[in-house]
Amino acid sequence: MTRQYRALLRWALVSLLMLAEMAFALPEHSPWPGGIAIVDVGSADQPPPPVSFQDKPLLMMSRNDRWHAVVGIPLDTKSGGLSIRVGDNTISIEIVPHAYREQRLTVKNKSYVTPDQAQLDRIARERKIIDAALGRFRITTAAGIELETPVDGPRSSSFGLRRFFNEQPRSPHKGMDIAANEGTPIIAPRAGVITATGEFFFNGNTVIIDHGQGFVTLYCHLSDIAVEEGQAVSAGEVIGAVGATGRVTGPHLHFGSYLNGTAVDPAILLPQL
Ligand SMILES: [Zn+2]
Repeated sequence: MTRQYRALLRWALVSLLMLAEMAFALPEHSPWPGGIAIVDVGSADQPPPPVSFQDKPLLMMSRNDRWHAVVGIPLDTKSGGLSIRVGDNTISIEIVPHAYREQRLTVKNKSYVTPDQAQLDRIARERKIIDAALGRFRITTAAGIELETPVDGPRSSSFGLRRFFNEQPRSPHKGMDIAANEGTPIIAPRAGVITATGEFFFNGNTVIIDHGQGFVTLYCHLSDIAVEEGQAVSAGEVIGAVGATGRVTGPHLHFGSYLNGTAVDPAILLPQL
């Protein structure tokens, strides 16, 4: 074997190892409300221990021969400690404060601000369908949770904004808005299974993808839905098109990401702009 050949072989091996490491890259430990905590829960020589937070099972990934729990931290978490269950023990995670800005919006259609009784009933029915899909836990071997960009465009307002519609306080913004023209195709940012589609009061035309182990993504306000419930999709497959259906002020994609039924900031999982 020549020296060059050996060097080439070593280079190929190192690149391959780096690639394997990249493919299973953990997101950055982001221990704030709406962030993601990465918690070492033991050696990967053993099967993973049962791990839960608020009685919900957690996504697990192995890295450097250790198991890591990937924990979605609820937006309403107070700073201080938060504990997860690992087998019969608990591990506490220190939560740091994070200041989210305020956003004041004016919506012309008043029923989006103060819905009537029939609309409230409809909203409650839809909430159940949406929450069930967002909170689903399907057992899979997780390959990672990094995402491709579902649609290119400016990320027009960020996750966690405390919102006021026509001066009335409403729930915080639990996703990322990406501005794009009506009809722009939206792709699945990672492989998964479609668990819900529908035309909902606030969210308009909506698609929900289950990526396994409680990792779920949400797409709202679409002009068109290109997939059906139960369908498997691969990364890059078109799932619908950008629109302005539901409670919106213009065409954009509302993109949400969820871990253990909790909305987490998609910016942690997407490539940086
Ligand atoms: Zn939004």
